[in-house]
Amino acid sequence: MSLDVQALRAQFPILDQQIDGKPLVYLDNAATTQKPQAVIDALMAFYTQCNANVHRGAHHLSDESTRRYEKARDSVAAFINAGAREEVIWTSGTTEAINIVANGLAQKLNPGDEVVATELEHHANLVTWQQACKKAGATLKIAPIFDSGELDVQAFEALLTDNTKMVAFPHVSNALGTVNPIVELTRMAKKVGAWVLVDGAQGIAHGGVDVQSIGCDFYAFSGHKLFGPTGIGVLWGKKEVLENWPVWQVGGEMISDVTYQSATWGALPNRLEAGTPNIAGAIGLGAAVTWFDSLNTDDVRAHEQQLLAAATEQAQALDGMRIIGTAPEKVGVLSFMLGDAHPADVGFILDRQGVAIRTGDNCAQPLMKRFGIPGTARASFSIYNTLEEVDMLFSALKKAKMMLA
Ligand code: PLP
Repeated sequence: MSLDVQALRAQFPILDQQIDGKPLVYLDNAATTQKPQAVIDALMAFYTQCNANVHRGAHHLSDESTRRYEKARDSVAAFINAGAREEVIWTSGTTEAINIVANGLAQKLNPGDEVVATELEHHANLVTWQQACKKAGATLKIAPIFDSGELDVQAFEALLTDNTKMVAFPHVSNALGTVNPIVELTRMAKKVGAWVLVDGAQGIAHGGVDVQSIGCDFYAFSGHKLFGPTGIGVLWGKKEVLENWPVWQVGGEMISDVTYQSATWGALPNRLEAGTPNIAGAIGLGAAVTWFDSLNTDDVRAHEQQLLAAATEQAQALDGMRIIGTAPEKVGVLSFMLGDAHPADVGFILDRQGVAIRTGDNCAQPLMKRFGIPGTARASFSIYNTLEEVDMLFSALKKAKMMLA
């Protein structure tokens, strides 16, 4: 079976529109994905049927809101094969999830301790560890990549020592599309007894994430890159690790007993979820994973690979186009330079033709510096994109090339 892309597209109302009289070609999926009607309906139903605060109301609306909110947690737990539902902590996104872990880590690190990350990091999985290390007097070590964008796994392993306390890496690079061998990297980090955090922001939307089989301690992702709403994300962590992790924010929802002078913390997941949560967002994310789970993961991957292969072939045939990121294991991300043109100019000309891509440093300035470029133009594909859209991208690029020559 292959994906019925036209039937899928019909579930995304936003895709059916024209930009300046040209059909929208949305190729900025690594920045955020569009939302299927099922997610829009779940959000609408929440606000029109049962909007109320969770866990504290003595009335029907609050009960119903709590039921939908906690059901969403069950859906996410099942989707990533969490060992227990309370291992799913709602956050505002990947960035907050990593900040929770890094903030706690800063309190656990001592001078001389080490944290290992990679050259592939998004700022969210780099600046966080920089700050934690600075606070604690610890050292941040960066594992190199090859020019293809593939991680140098041997060099990564060589950085791991008995002083390594935390190892963090992306499941998938947002800038280059590289897929990391996360099970192997986790196994290496575990040999030296380090905690492992996988930045799953870009990995989650390709299906098949099983946190238990990865063997990591933390896996972080954002709802909006998984067909869900913005402002909601997940920190998954092993129960025994999360139970002993320093609390992040304090306030309502996360406490057990409070006096005027002191407080004790509640149980998971609430101990890491202070304040009124993003209830609608969580319910929307629950709907998104249920919707996405109804697709066949192999079909999803095969479709994305087909789009990537077609785009790569056309890129290689286009004179002056340089692909940044050619690792053998990649998702549907095509980062590139078009001759000497500034990526922002390329993006502007494409936009006039209805083609939406990302341009700039991809929130990975050190990685761009590593390649000696200011940034890239990046087309990123999702399940609802078509081969015709790949052709439209390249006819727009040919026009851009002529205009910028
Ligand atoms: N990590 C990676 C690899 C990303 O691609 C992103 C977003 O693009 C993030 C982290 C941060 O995600 P968010 O902005 O949703 O918190």
